[in-house]
Amino acid sequence: MNIISFDIEEWYIEKKYFGDRKEKYQEYDRYLKSILDVLDRKNMKATFMCVGELGHWFPEVVKEIAERGHEIGCHSNEHIWLTSLNRGQLRQDTHNAIASLEDVCGQKVKSYRAPAFSIGDNNKWALEVLVENGIELDSSVFPAARDFGGFVSFTSEEPAIIRYNGIEIKEFPICTTKVFGRSIAYSGGGYFRFFPLSFVKKRMNESDYAISYFHIGDVVRLFDTFISKELYEAYFKEKGTFTNRIKRSVKSNLGINTAFEKMCSLIEKIDFVSLGEAEKMIDWSRANTVNL
Ligand SMILES: [Zn+2]
Repeated sequence: MNIISFDIEEWYIEKKYFGDRKEKYQEYDRYLKSILDVLDRKNMKATFMCVGELGHWFPEVVKEIAERGHEIGCHSNEHIWLTSLNRGQLRQDTHNAIASLEDVCGQKVKSYRAPAFSIGDNNKWALEVLVENGIELDSSVFPAARDFGGFVSFTSEEPAIIRYNGIEIKEFPICTTKVFGRSIAYSGGGYFRFFPLSFVKKRMNESDYAISYFHIGDVVRLFDTFISKELYEAYFKEKGTFTNRIKRSVKSNLGINTAFEKMCSLIEKIDFVSLGEAEKMIDWSRANTVNL
C-alpha cells in the first residue's frame, strides 16, 4: 500500500514572512493545479495536510483541493513546531486549525501531521490533544534522526495503533530504508530529491507500506536569494549563523531543478491512496500496537 500526502502551507508562510507577494501566490497556485491535474489523470486521491490559517486567508486554495475530491488533513494552525508549544497552546492551535479547515472544506478533518514532524519522545502528550480534537489518523512520526523533529525510538515501521495514557490513535509513520545500517527516509522531502527515482519506485513496489510526503517547497525552489539572518531565525527557529544558512541552502536546493518533474513522474508510475482510503484497507485488528 502506497499513500501520498502533501503538507500545504506556502501561501500562509509567504504572507507571514516573505512580503505577501502576489506573484508568489500565483506561482503556488500553478504548482498546486499541476499536482491536482496529475492526480486527476490517474484518478487518485491524496491527503492534503493544510495549515488552518490557509482556511482563514486563502480559503479558495483549501476549497479547490476539497472540491477535487481529496482529503483535507490538518498541518497545525500556524506551522509552529509542536515542541515549542505547551498543552494549552497546542489545544488552542489544533482547535483553531480544525475549525477553520472544516468550515471551508465541508469535510470532517480527521488526519494530522505536525509541522517538521515535531512529535517525539519528549512531547508524546501532543497525541492526547489531537485525539481530544477529533483526530483519528496521525502521520507525525518520523522514526529516524533528522534536523528538526524525529522519533528515533518509535518501534513500528508500518501503520500502528498507538496507545498512550488511555488514548488510542492510528499512526502512519514515515517509511525508511537502510543505508550503511542507518535508517533514512526516502519517500518525501529532501530525501526524495536525493535518491534516484528508480530507487524510490523499486523500494515502493517491494514494500507492503510506503508513504510519500511533499511540501511544494520540497520540490520547487522557493527562495531566489540567500535568506537573511532575521528571516532564517524567524522561520527555522535556530541561530541564523552563516554556516547554518549555507548548510540549509545547500540542502534545500540539492536536486531542486528536476524535483517537481520527478515527483509528478512518481505519481504517474505508482498507485497511491489517501490516508483515509488506507485506513479502510487496513485490518487494524492485526496491526502493530505501540505503547508509548
Ligand atoms: Zn509543513
